[in-house]
Amino acid sequence: MRFESLKTVSNRKNRIKDNSTVSFTDLFNSNVFDDTAMRNFLSREAYESVSSSIHNGKTINRKMAEHVASGMKRWALSKGATHYTHWFQPLTGSTAEKHDSFFEPENGKAVEKFSANSLVQQEPDASSLPSGGLRNTFEARGYTAWDPSSPAFIYENTAGKTLCIPTVFVSYNGEALDYKTPLLKSVNLVDKAATEICKYFLKKVSSCTASLGIEQEYFLVDEALFQARPDLVMCGRTLVGHAPAKGQQMDDHYFGSIPDRVFNYMYDLEIEAAKLGIPLKTRHNEVAPGQYECAPMFEEVNLAIDHNQLLMDLMDDVAKRHHFRVLLHEKPFAGINGSGKHNNWSLITNTGVNLLSPGNDPNSNLLFLTIFINTIKALHDNSDIIRASIASASNDHRLGANEAPPAIISAFIGSKLTQVLNAFLADAVAEDKGEKKSINIDKIPEILRDNTDRNRTSPFAFTGNKFELRAVGSSTNSAQPMTALNSAVANQLIAFKIAVDSAVVKGVDQKKAIVLELKKVLKSAQNILFEGNNYSDEWAKEAKKRGLSNIKNTPESLKAYISNQAHDTFVKNGIFTQEELHARYEIMLEDYIKKIQIEGRILGELAYSFILPPSIQYLSNVAANVKTLKEAGIKVGTAQKELIESIGEHIDMVKTKTDQMIAARKKANTMIDSEKQAISYHYDVKESFDDIRYHIDKLEQLVDDKMWQLPKYRELLFTR
Ligand code: ADP
Ligand code: MG
Repeated sequence: MRFESLKTVSNRKNRIKDNSTVSFTDLFNSNVFDDTAMRNFLSREAYESVSSSIHNGKTINRKMAEHVASGMKRWALSKGATHYTHWFQPLTGSTAEKHDSFFEPENGKAVEKFSANSLVQQEPDASSLPSGGLRNTFEARGYTAWDPSSPAFIYENTAGKTLCIPTVFVSYNGEALDYKTPLLKSVNLVDKAATEICKYFLKKVSSCTASLGIEQEYFLVDEALFQARPDLVMCGRTLVGHAPAKGQQMDDHYFGSIPDRVFNYMYDLEIEAAKLGIPLKTRHNEVAPGQYECAPMFEEVNLAIDHNQLLMDLMDDVAKRHHFRVLLHEKPFAGINGSGKHNNWSLITNTGVNLLSPGNDPNSNLLFLTIFINTIKALHDNSDIIRASIASASNDHRLGANEAPPAIISAFIGSKLTQVLNAFLADAVAEDKGEKKSINIDKIPEILRDNTDRNRTSPFAFTGNKFELRAVGSSTNSAQPMTALNSAVANQLIAFKIAVDSAVVKGVDQKKAIVLELKKVLKSAQNILFEGNNYSDEWAKEAKKRGLSNIKNTPESLKAYISNQAHDTFVKNGIFTQEELHARYEIMLEDYIKKIQIEGRILGELAYSFILPPSIQYLSNVAANVKTLKEAGIKVGTAQKELIESIGEHIDMVKTKTDQMIAARKKANTMIDSEKQAISYHYDVKESFDDIRYHIDKLEQLVDDKMWQLPKYRELLFTR
């Protein structure tokens, strides 16, 4: 497989395609039931009904839904769609769809049908999707329901064109079985909470939206080489492989010129993304060889997440056309940078004010500080929840590993804002002592935006007009961390408003009440601020002193979902019920267990069927050679003997350690309690992988290259 695949790769043609006739203006949104399409295909009444549902959350009545369905059908058919599907995001992490044909037989003819029922609600037989015990298989009913705030679109691939209707997915009793349902609730919650705060400052604000811009990192590997690696095919990452002589130490890949074949892929991806209205803006090489990034313009958070989920599907589809495989795993190659998905988040009013953009007059500065400080406090109080919201077996390789933000959640705000906050607090001291001093918020330099320094090691960095949650993994559905962040910030803003209002009732001037409360909030949250190198050992020690958590593995971090804080942030605000939280906890534990179980099985197979046979064969070749030489009376030095011993030892270790890992897995499998099982899978099974790998990677270096079966790192990373 290895040599055949290398031959296939070297025979590929890498010419830049002529794209001179492509017009992005024409392509953009061409497969989306967007505003223009709605105007063209809906009656005025139906159009207004959908519009007011999108902008004001008004429900669409049955009659109107019938009109919308009929218009949407005509539009989809005019585009050549043959099927439709409700498109949703179950807790598997990927998207789900079940296609129905528009055509139904009637009196011997095929008639196109698509009613309000088909648009608004469906009942997919979803008994095999995870529910964490919320739904027994015998009462398998789950419902998908239309989310008008995210436009319907047509997905094109080799199978044809399908009208996709974004939906939520809930159980018969209304419990959320997906990522979108709680996200939408959190969007509403933070809208209301932020709008209430805005009313102190800007009377015209009537709503706020959370905005999100998602940077997506990924690797590309040639499909032939990919197919020759069972670990990539089954786990999305390599479980073995010696580091290549040249990795990323030359720093020659980052922002370097994009290889032709990759460029063609990116261009095609951009075309497909444009048709779906995904506003891709940047593309470049990333730090590691074979690693790239793309990022869209930011959008409303729900839409941004739908677009990112869609983008990941597109990346996969388009890669196959180019004989590539896209790796979205957080750590496909040991010793090489992993992939993240930076979530750039902000709050923007309906009047167009970015609440995290410092203004240049005292009033807007105080509004900025209010949102800014309360966001820091929200992170402070919910750091374990945020950590849990990005936890997964694959992201564990990044968090705490020496390259991505650590598992310690902290915020970076830059030197300018640190000064501003310090001055702000210092004033409080003066004021408490009865000295009259103006509040030092009058001038936050306007240049701040471009002036903020960058800290690539921080998990939560302020970058001038937004916070960047950098700890999110490349394969994660951002709905989970964004639900947590929206809810945490909303919860804090609600508490803040209550405190301010009660001071005002007692006769304190409103502005003064805001300032005093902000100072209190800031003081209680300050220990989450960290400006230094997050990767350093000193920070781990310092964070411990500060009492910040450093939870390095998924099973232990997930407990935050069933903590008191989770109750305060989620349950009290109606984002999740306690049952839903428990269900999510179960699902995530199970996901962890299954992923490690699969990795364990594949590693076992690799060891026994791919590594040991050529190693043993090579060992016996060398031994036979020594024997022949001796028999011929030729003097044999120590080199071959040492080689034999060394290979022999590694062979023994691979077998012994693999057997131990398999035994540990069997033991873990007998555990009934999923929490204990996940923890056992972490400590007893997963922690032994590196040990096995060490000996395998040694063998890779010792055994004749001709006999080695698995494509090597240098081939996977540098051949294209
Ligand atoms: P980098 O982090 O590499 O400097 P950019 O500054 O270009 O990258 O921004 C990264 C992402 O942040 C982009 O998707 C961009 O659209 C998004 N972004 C910019 N402003 C906001 C905002 N106010 N709210 C949310 N996302 C934003
Ligand atoms: Mg960034």
